[in-house]
Amino acid sequence: MISVITRFATIICLAFISAYVVFENWGTEWGIAIGIFILAVPLLYSYINLARLRKYILNDSVENMPLPSGFWEEVFFRLQRLVRNLKQKIRTIEQQHDHFIEAFQASPNGIVMLDENDQIEWCNSIAERFFGLLFKRDAMQRINFLIRRPEFIQYLAKRSFEEPLLLERMGPDSNLSLMLQAFPFGQKRHLLLVQDITDLQKADAMRRDFVANVSHEMRTPITVLMGFLETVQSLDLEKSQRDHYFELMMSQAQRMKSLVEDLLTLANLEANTLPASSNVIQIETVMALLKNDAEALSQGVHSLQFECLTPNNLLGDEREVLSAFSNLVSNAIRYTPDIGSITASWKINDQGQGEFSVTDSGPGIASEHLSRLTERFYRIDRSRSRDTGGTGLGLAIVKHIANRHQAQLLIESTPGKGSTFMLRFPKERISN
Ligand code: ADP
Repeated sequence: MISVITRFATIICLAFISAYVVFENWGTEWGIAIGIFILAVPLLYSYINLARLRKYILNDSVENMPLPSGFWEEVFFRLQRLVRNLKQKIRTIEQQHDHFIEAFQASPNGIVMLDENDQIEWCNSIAERFFGLLFKRDAMQRINFLIRRPEFIQYLAKRSFEEPLLLERMGPDSNLSLMLQAFPFGQKRHLLLVQDITDLQKADAMRRDFVANVSHEMRTPITVLMGFLETVQSLDLEKSQRDHYFELMMSQAQRMKSLVEDLLTLANLEANTLPASSNVIQIETVMALLKNDAEALSQGVHSLQFECLTPNNLLGDEREVLSAFSNLVSNAIRYTPDIGSITASWKINDQGQGEFSVTDSGPGIASEHLSRLTERFYRIDRSRSRDTGGTGLGLAIVKHIANRHQAQLLIESTPGKGSTFMLRFPKERISN
């Protein structure tokens, strides 16, 4: 400030002194002329520099402006530094803003920012998909004009956001269940967080069904067992009658044991998320074991055939593979009427995949059941399954074991003619 005043005073003094000197020697006109000339030079200098500054400001390139000399040099230099710093700050803020947007976009949840009038300030693409919004089109629109569900409109209007809101049948295919909650932030603004809980709800329903099914499966043998116990306790029975009741009780206890064993097997398989091990499984040995068990189960009433068409072995977990194979063989025996035939075979197909298949001449399965057979407790013929000691969990176990070995379970069946259950293993699981 002082330097500006000093400069100004210097120029005035210079102009005055020069004008006076010239006036003394050459007269009034020359004196005034020289005074005006001395005042006009710095004015012109300032005007030229202001004009240049204006040009660079209009081109938004103040920081590239060449610096003049003299008084304006410092002004321009400071101005350039200020503009450069401001631009750098704006760039940093823009980068941070972009990072926030990227983070919000990466979120698996829908995010909507609302201003104090519930107008959409911003939303991520997940929220766009959940609610059929398009940010470019719907920015600054009131959200209750766009999401027309009465429960949502009420939720917003009530302004008490302690509890989340469940919205069902949402999304492009109206098949999503969304959990939404508003959180206040800033000045009367709100952040809507929306979580897709469709899978959670399905898992919950499955868990509930499963518990109900297990309880139902257990209740039947327990009730029967208690009935027999009461009979044995209250009646004076002869030894042969009592033995008969004990035998019946044993079969119910056996049924519960099988159920618990299968449930434990399933639980263990589900708990183990790693793929199955890759030990060499001698298929010939497995086939011999299967044959022994099958003969014992069939008790000579079926025609049984076990064949190894190729010598290659399988890489996997022997206990699991044996359990899956024997489930398929035992199903074939249990569901095929007497005199029927059952063939179990192992071969490598043209693509180098290993195929274990069990073909029976049993009752076959109608096509509408095929996709549901591996569901826990899904049975076509309940009484046949129970009579033959089935738990309804066999194929669910097979499916799990197949998954753990990257194998596919394929089922072909013609009602009245028979069925083929096949486990197809990838060639990486075949040893030479
Ligand atoms: P279960 O213990 O009842 O046999 P599974 O899970 O092993 O349970 O099989 C599910 C259902 O699939 C069975 O209840 C039965 O109705 C049907 N099923 C399985 N294998 C055969 C087969 N070889 N022939 C006909 N039906 C079969």
